[in-house]
Amino acid sequence: MTDFITRFAPSPTGPLHLGHAYSALLAHDMARSAGGKFLLRIEDIDSTRSRPEWEEQIYDDLTWLGISWDETPLRQSDRLSNYTQALNSLWDRGLLYPCSCTRRDIAAAASAPQEGADPVYGPDGLIYPGTCRAKTDPRAAFPEHQALRLDMQKALDAVGQREFCYTEQSSGTDETLCTPACNMVQEVGDIVLSRRDFLGSYHLSVVLDDAAQSITHVVRGKDIQSATHIHVLLQKLLGLPTPTYHHHRLIRDEAGKRLAKRDDARAIATYRADGKTPDDIRRMVGL
Ligand code: GLU
Repeated sequence: MTDFITRFAPSPTGPLHLGHAYSALLAHDMARSAGGKFLLRIEDIDSTRSRPEWEEQIYDDLTWLGISWDETPLRQSDRLSNYTQALNSLWDRGLLYPCSCTRRDIAAAASAPQEGADPVYGPDGLIYPGTCRAKTDPRAAFPEHQALRLDMQKALDAVGQREFCYTEQSSGTDETLCTPACNMVQEVGDIVLSRRDFLGSYHLSVVLDDAAQSITHVVRGKDIQSATHIHVLLQKLLGLPTPTYHHHRLIRDEAGKRLAKRDDARAIATYRADGKTPDDIRRMVGL
C-alpha cells in the first residue's frame, strides 16, 4: 500500500448531485490506482441543517456508484469533544474572542464611510471589522454557546511564519502555492471558529478531521481552494501536518452555474430513478 489516503467529506444537508459524484469518483479512482485508501467523512457539524435521512442517502448513492470506503465513516457529530479541546487550547493561548455581531452589524460596520475604503470580501464573506476584538477579558473562562473568532494578527504572531504554503497537485505535477502572512489580516480577517448555534466551524473541523483520518491527499472542488491558506495557518497553529491538495474542476449546469444542493434535477437519486447507470454518471461528469 502506498502512502496515499484521501477522503470524500459530504454534508448531509441535501441530496448528492453530479458535482459530488465527480468529486467522490475522482478521489476514489485516485486512491484505488495509487493502491491507497479512500475514506468517508460525514460533515454533520451543522446540526441545524444535517438530517439522518440525507446521511443514509449518501451511503446508498455512493454504493450505487461503485464506491467503497476503507474504514468506518467518521462523523463530525461524534467528534465534538475534539473540537472543544482544540478551541479551549486556542482560548487559553489568547487567540480567540467571543463575538455577538450579526451579519447585519458586520455589513453596517464594513460599509461605514472610513477613509473611503470599500468593504473587503474574503473566503468567508465580508471581512470582520473587529468590533468585538478589544472587548475580551483574556482571563475570562472559556465562553460556552457563543460565536468565537480567531484573532488573526495574534494567530500570525503565534505561528511566526512569513508565508503559508501547500502543494497543489494536478495531472502529476506539483506546484507550491504560497500566501504571504501579511495578506491574511486584510484578506481573511478574524474568521469564526465556533458558532453560537453549533460547536466548531468548517475551517476548524476540516483540519482536525483530516489529521485524525491521516489524510495525505485532499481531493476537493476548486470552490474551496480560496480557503486552503486558512487551513494551512490552522494546521500550523494546532501542530497538524499539511496534506497535499488537489482542487478539481467544478461540474456546472448548462448556464455555467455551479451545481448546488437544492439542484434536485441533478441529484444522483433522480438520475437513478430515471434509469441511468453508474457508467452514465461517469460519462456525464467526464470520467
Ligand atoms: N463538506 C464540504 C463540502 O461538502 C467538504 C469540503 C472539503 O472537502 O474540505 O463542500
